[in-house]
Amino acid sequence: MIVKLNNNSSRDEINEIFELLNNLSIAFQFIENENVIVLPKFNDVTLLNNKNAIDSVFEIDTPFQLPSKIWKAKTAVKIDTIEISMDTFTVMAGPCSVENEDQVFSTAEFLSKAGIQFIRGGAYKPRTSPYSFRGLGVDGLKILHKAAQQFHLKVVTEILDLTLLDDVYQYAEILQVGSRNMHNFYLLNELGKIDKPILLKRGMNAKVYEWLLAAEYILSGGNSNVILCERGIRSFDPQSRNVMDIGAISLIKELSHLPIIADPSHGTGIASRVKPAALAATAAGADGLIIEIHPEPAKALSDKEQALNFNEFTDLMEGVNNILPHLPYGKKTLPINNTVLNLQSI
Ligand code: PEP
Ligand code: MN
Repeated sequence: MIVKLNNNSSRDEINEIFELLNNLSIAFQFIENENVIVLPKFNDVTLLNNKNAIDSVFEIDTPFQLPSKIWKAKTAVKIDTIEISMDTFTVMAGPCSVENEDQVFSTAEFLSKAGIQFIRGGAYKPRTSPYSFRGLGVDGLKILHKAAQQFHLKVVTEILDLTLLDDVYQYAEILQVGSRNMHNFYLLNELGKIDKPILLKRGMNAKVYEWLLAAEYILSGGNSNVILCERGIRSFDPQSRNVMDIGAISLIKELSHLPIIADPSHGTGIASRVKPAALAATAAGADGLIIEIHPEPAKALSDKEQALNFNEFTDLMEGVNNILPHLPYGKKTLPINNTVLNLQSI
């Protein structure tokens, strides 16, 4: 249950509610930035009748509460003048890993000319083998940041561990929680205390309600700026790296007010299948895409099989641009520079 408080209620009136709940030994959490109280195991509305501090009470019969659409219609994540929400379409692109300055600067230049506002790139990489390339660490963050400053882009990068939070916080605008960390509840909890948006990828084995409960960890800590990312789930078929769960996008739309973007790069794992999956995710209602690109995919130090070159990315964006206006999701804006997209190479 979520209890929405009146915006003009006094501290005394709010304290009266806290006291009532405490006296009844009812567990609750006050989310100050939303001005709501979450009562995860309590559904007796009558006890809260006639309290001045209360604006409305929402009974929510799912395990997740704060991500639910029942009490909130829309989350708009704002980064300067950019909004990421159900009303916009946001594209993030860049390499899987930051490898060197040339790679990142040429990617950043390409993205800015194409009108893309976010550059992605991992500086700390969660690799299956400890002997694989694991990222440049803080030097990688500095390269991303420098390129982003020069080309007026925002940085999206993975926060692999809490010990890295200070550096990642300093150099990135959006902190990505990777698929392997979606169940890292201590990390999620701590990210609930910061004031930067979190891109929460779906665990590769996670059910949708588990993913929304992972979001709840962040939201209940007081950070309302969560963006979900469908990146495919494990299957039995070795011909795809993952199965892009297109159905989960529309399910999230039914259940939650949080924006959801799609990652068809990890969702398929194969470059030739990235565009079809991107178009399908867009058609299913995704609020944006995150795509792995590389100036020379064959030379990528991680995830080279799924990286698109700049021309392939341009072609993908043209496809998305063509279908977006025909979809029934209201006003989506795609900040794409068509003149540049029409060029075959940059
Ligand atoms: C990535 O974005 O490069 C990445 C490691 O993604 P995921 O956590 O979805 O595997
Ligand atoms: Mn990757």
